[in-house]
Amino acid sequence: MNSGVGPVVSPRFSDLTTLAIGGEIGHYHHLTSRKKAVAAARSVWESGDEWMALGGGSNLVVSDEGFPGHVLHVAWRGKRLKAQPDGSVLLTVQAGEDWDQLVAYTVSEGLCGLESLSGIPGTVGASVIQNIGAYGHEISEVLDHVDFLEWPTAAETTLTGADLALGHRSSVMKTGERQGLVLSVTFRLTKSDKSLPIAYPQVSDALGVELGDSVSLEKLRETVLSLRRSKGMVHDEADPDSWSVGSFFINPVVTERFAHSLPSDAPKWLLDENTHTVISLDAEDAATADLDADLFAEQGESNAGAIPKGAPSVKEAPSEARVKLSAAWLIEHSGIPKGFQLPGGKARVSTKHTLAITNPGGANAEDVGSLARYIRTHVANTFGVVLQPEPTLVGIPLD
Ligand SMILES: Cc1cc2nc3c(=O)[nH]c(=O)nc-3n(C[C@H](O)[C@H](O)[C@H](O)COP(=O)(O)OP(=O)(O)OC[C@H]3O[C@@H](n4cnc5c(N)ncnc54)[C@H](O)[C@@H]3O)c2cc1C
Repeated sequence: MNSGVGPVVSPRFSDLTTLAIGGEIGHYHHLTSRKKAVAAARSVWESGDEWMALGGGSNLVVSDEGFPGHVLHVAWRGKRLKAQPDGSVLLTVQAGEDWDQLVAYTVSEGLCGLESLSGIPGTVGASVIQNIGAYGHEISEVLDHVDFLEWPTAAETTLTGADLALGHRSSVMKTGERQGLVLSVTFRLTKSDKSLPIAYPQVSDALGVELGDSVSLEKLRETVLSLRRSKGMVHDEADPDSWSVGSFFINPVVTERFAHSLPSDAPKWLLDENTHTVISLDAEDAATADLDADLFAEQGESNAGAIPKGAPSVKEAPSEARVKLSAAWLIEHSGIPKGFQLPGGKARVSTKHTLAITNPGGANAEDVGSLARYIRTHVANTFGVVLQPEPTLVGIPLD
């Protein structure tokens, strides 16, 4: 079935995802108008059939068998600015707008708040699903509200960041506690040509300024884009080393006691629940902090599953401090280098960043799944930490 607003021939997931893998789509709906999207979602949800939303396909890994249900491809666009009496600006953006084009627009309009998130692929609607973040900032800091179409009732509702329980690469939509379609996202931005305070050492070092300083929005965007390119973290059609879903695994959070059982040179960041700050456990860690742009971001509860069997869990010992680890460090120090490929496998660890699994050409979902399982098992056997995937996996078992 097609909604009558898109192409008659269904594309495959491999045509619509940044990893360029994944099989057939059962029923494809290319939704270029919000009104038609609401009508299509209502009708699909009433049918009781399986369904899923698709944005830019940059955080999605679908099996070679594909998905037999309905795929609602979010492609409606538009944005509106509204100045507020307190001097802030409310920017409402429809879900199908391209994220990085939006960031470029805010920078050119002198609107501060999104500049650190330059270069992240995907759509605006999906940005809230995992509370996208990089270089010490995430969208929860500037989110005002989301217009949401709730499954299964198809009632339109407004949700705040608190309603969405935004955490580190997490929300109630990511965990599946709440399902539906993000219709639009409204950000509260500041009219200023200066960036938010720089919260990541690699960015301040590259700019030759101090942590906490601000620079022009353009300068910040350029610097972030250049750092991201050096790690293959800007999706580039011409560079297969960037054909990935970004970080494949989330930085794990473990108890402080367990963290101390790891090698002393493993980066460890104490999470302060009260002040929401992240503190290096020892001075050496600062030197290795550039392994992952996510290390400084605040960590929510969602990753508690990363605590390995045998280690004290957050739930068992709620008062014990929690410590974030670098998934990239764990992978590299378990003996999996950048550029690693399984014998006969066509998926590859990025040659620029250990956290990204890439499709340098000819890989299928089975190749990606096998490499992800190998990495996960290897890290678990070496360090006792079970890495959790960051992207949405459809038909790709990791256990
Ligand atoms: C090179 C590269 C670098 C990356 N760097 C970062 C980074 O620095 N930080 C970061 O946080 N992420 C990063 N990512 C991951 C990804 O870009 C983001 O998660 C992005 O927000 C996904 O957007 P998308 O439109 O591609 O979503 P998709 O991949 O299409 O979908 C992701 C999930 O969201 C759901 N979804 C999509 N749209 C909607 C909607 N409108 N309503 C309801 N559900 C929806 C889908 O069903 C799916 O479960 C990176 C990815 C790549 C390829």
